Amino acid sequence: MATENTKCLIIGSGPAGYTAAIYASRANISPILYEGIQPGGQLTTTSEVENFPGYPEGVMGAQLMEDLRKQASRFGADIRTGIINEVDFTQRPFTVTADDGTTIVAETVIVATGASAKYLGLPDEQRFAGLGVSACATCDGFFYRGRTVAVVGGGDTACEEALYLSGLAKQVYLIVRKDFLRASKVMQQRVMDKDNIKVLFNTNTLGLFGNEFLEGAHLVEFAGTDKERKFDVNIDGFFLAIGHKPNTDIFKGKLDLDEQGYIVLAGKDQSTSVPGVFAAGDVADSHYQQAITAAGTGCRAALDVEHFLMEHQ
Ligand code: NDP
Repeated sequence: MATENTKCLIIGSGPAGYTAAIYASRANISPILYEGIQPGGQLTTTSEVENFPGYPEGVMGAQLMEDLRKQASRFGADIRTGIINEVDFTQRPFTVTADDGTTIVAETVIVATGASAKYLGLPDEQRFAGLGVSACATCDGFFYRGRTVAVVGGGDTACEEALYLSGLAKQVYLIVRKDFLRASKVMQQRVMDKDNIKVLFNTNTLGLFGNEFLEGAHLVEFAGTDKERKFDVNIDGFFLAIGHKPNTDIFKGKLDLDEQGYIVLAGKDQSTSVPGVFAAGDVADSHYQQAITAAGTGCRAALDVEHFLMEHQ
């Protein structure tokens, strides 16, 4: 199989990967970018993006990613469909293998593989994806002004999403599988103080229903006990907030990861525990996880690569 050399390999194609490709291409680094399992990343699964600066009328997530891709191509980024499934970071240049068998020998690598929202695994979640089911209240909450929504989860993210939605929606149900919230005390208090958030403890989701759009959820309280009660709630939106999983499986043991699996940045820039390997976007950020912050760190990573290459000529 073919072996190719590059000054910079970018793994991942969300806002971080494409922005890194734009900057690296304009710096004459001629990067190769592998798009990964979900070309365009998480934004391709959302509907309209209204909070990315520069789009006063909003833009469809898929369109925004297509525009970023075109912009990177325009400056010569070599964008490829395919998945990187093995990396060797033990010595530089690094050796990386793609799923078609191509071996890339790269002087630097930018990891921008993102994170994936966890779903419950109900078939109905796929059926109503973009039609009422979302994993991002900041992205999609605005469409539920004056309506009724549910958030699933009992952690800080779920509380944050419920609080955000309570400012837009008429009624928010917070569906919590245990009899307590795992979130910090201050977040719990804020949730309890909101008149339009109703916390449903000891409750699980059995399914979703609706015709074209989501209309409600089938729930069960105290499942498997003698107090078990099945009931429905009428909702227009169903928000998953049960955590994200960073896409770092192939980097385990190769880069420093935190206990949740996110890449740990080594200092004030985008460098990782391996000199010459940089990380950008949600894969190294469990906190902000916004398209614009991912794009910003993609820019930073490309500038870091430029510096690194100059220093290691
Ligand atoms: P967490 O892992 O903290 O919480 C996940 C929640 O989802 C838990 O309540 C869990 O329930 C529930 N859950 C998981 N799987 C299921 C399932 N299959 N069905 C129903 N419920 C489920 O994730 P978060 O995303 O909330 O937070 C991640 C990290 O980020 C945390 O450390 C958090 O503190 C931090 N964070 C901090 C913020 C802040 O400081 N402002 C904001 C957001 C996040 P159970 O409790 O039963 O396991």
